[in-house]
Amino acid sequence: MLARLLQTARNALAQAPQPSISAVGLSAPGPINPQTGLIYTAPNMPGWVNVPLSEILAAEFGVPVFAGNDANLAALAEARFGAGRNYRHIVYLTVSTGIGSGIISDGVLVTGKDGLAAEAGHLILEPDGPPCGCGGRGCLEALASGSSIARAAEARLAQGDDSVLQAKRGTVTSRLVAEAAQRGDRLAGEVFQRAATYLGLGVAALINLFNPQIIILGGGVTNAGDLLFDTVTRVALSRCMPILSHGVQIVPAALRDDVGLRGAAIWAFTPRPRFG
Ligand SMILES: [Zn+2]
Repeated sequence: MLARLLQTARNALAQAPQPSISAVGLSAPGPINPQTGLIYTAPNMPGWVNVPLSEILAAEFGVPVFAGNDANLAALAEARFGAGRNYRHIVYLTVSTGIGSGIISDGVLVTGKDGLAAEAGHLILEPDGPPCGCGGRGCLEALASGSSIARAAEARLAQGDDSVLQAKRGTVTSRLVAEAAQRGDRLAGEVFQRAATYLGLGVAALINLFNPQIIILGGGVTNAGDLLFDTVTRVALSRCMPILSHGVQIVPAALRDDVGLRGAAIWAFTPRPRFG
């Protein structure tokens, strides 16, 4: 994977009209140290443990490398070019296989002391809830991510509950659950709405914490559209503190697959926060 990554970067450089670069911006899934570019772990990339990716890229290209978590950098991209263009107080959540987030407060990305802030996917909503990839239990990600929606549907199907999804047992995805729910399937509707409710509770917590103007939701699960947004908006605005609910908008992300690339480019041009 690393060899392909380096080759892709070399190819891009070879095609560039002016093949000189002043910096590399790097968007990585999972927690990454922005100072050293060390990927601690990447749950969706098995074997990536303590990989000094920035060092490797800096040695290859001879320029500084600026690394960040993919959801944090996607938040920067949405803030600059996407749904958050006209706002300074932004909460961004990506709901796909997992749940990532980025917080922009008064125009500045919230990084924390080690650059690891804004793991909203690991807000704990159920102390005895399902296990989470982080080692904890009952995190928002374990209750409302795409993989948790698929898992919850499979568990109901295994009990023999009636559903059009019985024919897909073993291969259910959150997209199939959303589509069945949109066609009126009861089991699918219950599973999807339960996840959307937890997502709404997570958003309510983020509204209470950050007093945002806008909440931007991206990631594959948001393709469900109104099925997701109606519930998330109703739950979030009715369960946050009333005074904080005024005027908060909950909207879909505007950028698509290149959101991480754009974010990485912005990050390379952002004045460095101090870490450690
Ligand atoms: Zn977790």
